[in-house]
Amino acid sequence: MIVMKFGGTSVESAAAIERVAAIVRSRFDQQPLVVVSAMGKTTNRLLAAADKAAAGNLEDAFRDIEELHAFHRREAGAAIPRENHTAMEVVLENHFEQLESTLQRVAGTAQLTPALWDEVCSYGERLSSALVALALPGFGIPAVHVDAREVLVTDSRHSQALPLYSRTYARFKEKVVPLLQGRVGVMGGFIGATSEGVTTTLGRGGSDFSAAIAGAGIEAEEIQIWTDVDGMLTCDPRVLPGGRLVKRISFSEAAELAYFGAKVLHPSTVQPAIEKNIPVRILNSRRPEVGGTLIVADAVSSTNPVKSIACKREITVVEVRSLRMLMAHGFLRRIFEVFDRYKTPVDMVTTSEVCVALTIDHDRALPEIEQELSRIAEVTVVRDQAIICLVGDALRETSGLGARIFGALREVNIRMISQGASFNNVSFVVQGADLLPAVQALHAEFFSTIDPEVFQ
Ligand code: ADP
Ligand code: ASP
Ligand code: MG
Repeated sequence: MIVMKFGGTSVESAAAIERVAAIVRSRFDQQPLVVVSAMGKTTNRLLAAADKAAAGNLEDAFRDIEELHAFHRREAGAAIPRENHTAMEVVLENHFEQLESTLQRVAGTAQLTPALWDEVCSYGERLSSALVALALPGFGIPAVHVDAREVLVTDSRHSQALPLYSRTYARFKEKVVPLLQGRVGVMGGFIGATSEGVTTTLGRGGSDFSAAIAGAGIEAEEIQIWTDVDGMLTCDPRVLPGGRLVKRISFSEAAELAYFGAKVLHPSTVQPAIEKNIPVRILNSRRPEVGGTLIVADAVSSTNPVKSIACKREITVVEVRSLRMLMAHGFLRRIFEVFDRYKTPVDMVTTSEVCVALTIDHDRALPEIEQELSRIAEVTVVRDQAIICLVGDALRETSGLGARIFGALREVNIRMISQGASFNNVSFVVQGADLLPAVQALHAEFFSTIDPEVFQ
C-alpha cells in the first residue's frame, strides 16, 4: 500500500484531475490510498465567504458560495463520467446546502469561532474527495470515498487539532485497509473529527500531515506528496527562482526546512513517517517523470554541507532590554510567560546579558505583549524582517562555514543570528528588503557547485 497526496493545484481543474487519474492508474498495483486537498483556492474562498457572513453580509457570502458551486460543477463535471453525474449532483446539493446553513450560523453568532472556522473550511476537502472518487472510475480506476472524519480522530483544539494516534491508527486498520483491496480509497486531507464527531482541522496546509498520518495508519510502503514543483528545491522558488532539485534529504533536514518556511511540506508531516520509518517522496503532478525528492531516515552525506535555504517573510523582531536584570535571574522566564499568555509562538531567540531578541510570525497580540513587557523592560519592535535558514545535517561539523556565510553576506546587515540549538540549521534575521540579495548571495556561495549524487 502507498499513500498519494495531491495538493490544491494538483486537483484545481478537470485537466488536473485527469493528470491525477493517470498517475494513480500507473501505480494501481501498489494499492494507493489517495489523499486530496480542496480544489485550487477553495479554502481561501470559503474563508472569505465566512468573513463576510461574520460581518453580517450574508448576501455577498452566498454569492461567493454560488461561484464556488459553479466552479466545482464545471471542473469536476468535466472530469466525472456521465454515469456518475447524478451522484455528483447529490454530492454538490448536499454539501452546498449544508454550507449555506453553516454560514447562516456564522452570521447568527456574528463571529467565526474556531469551531465554525473548521466546519466552514472542511467543505473544501469533503467536496474534492467525494468528487475525485466519482471521477476515477471514468479512467478505469475502481474507487471508494473515505470520510476522513470517520477515521482521523483528533483532540478538540479547533483549527490546530492534533491526531489521537492510537485511535486513529486502529480505525485506519479496521476501516480503510479492507477497502483498498482492488479499489483506490480517496480521502480528504486537512480534516478530522473529535471522538464526539465534531469536525476539526489540522491547520493550514495540513493535508500533507493527513497523508503522513494515513500512511502510518495503513503502514504504507511510501508516502507520496504530489505538488506543483519538482520536489524540495535548494531555495524557495517564490523568493529566488532557479534553485536545484534536492534528490535525497533526511527527515530531520526536511522537518527543519518545513518549520522555517518551505511550504512544500507541512512541518508536522515527517513525524508520523519517522515513527514508522516510512519514506516520504515529494513529486510533481505536472511532471510525474521527474524523480522528485526522497526523504529518508538516515543522514544523507554530501560534499555540499547546506541542503537547502528556507525563508520566512513578514517576521517581527521584539527586543527586550533591561539593565535592572543585569546578573538577575528569572528575566527569561518573565519574558516568555508574557508570550505564552498571549498564545504567541516565538521562533528564534538570541540573548545577551541585558537584552533578549525574539522573533514572532503573527503579531495579533503584539500591542498587549508590548504593554506587559514594558512594565519590566524597555521594548523595541522591528517589523518587516525575514528569517533565512540554512539547513544541512553536517553543518555543525563543517569548519569554515561562518567565514563563508559572513563573506557571502558582507553587504547585508544581519540583525540576529542563531546556530546550534538544532544541530542542522543556521538562521539569521535580515530586513525584508534584503531577503532577495541575501538569499541570492548565499545560494551562489553554497550551490554554485553541486554534488550530483544528491542534487540535480
Ligand atoms: P500543495 O497545494 O501541493 O500542498 P503548496 O503550495 O502547499 O502546494 O506547496 C508547494 C509550494 O511550496 C511550491 O509551489 C513553492 O512555491 C513552495 N516552496 C517553498 N519553499 C520551497 C522549497 N524549498 N522547495 C520547493 N518548493 C518550495
Ligand atoms: N486546503 C487546506 C489549505 O488550503 C489544506 C491543504 O491544502 O493542505 O490550507
Ligand atoms: Mg501544501
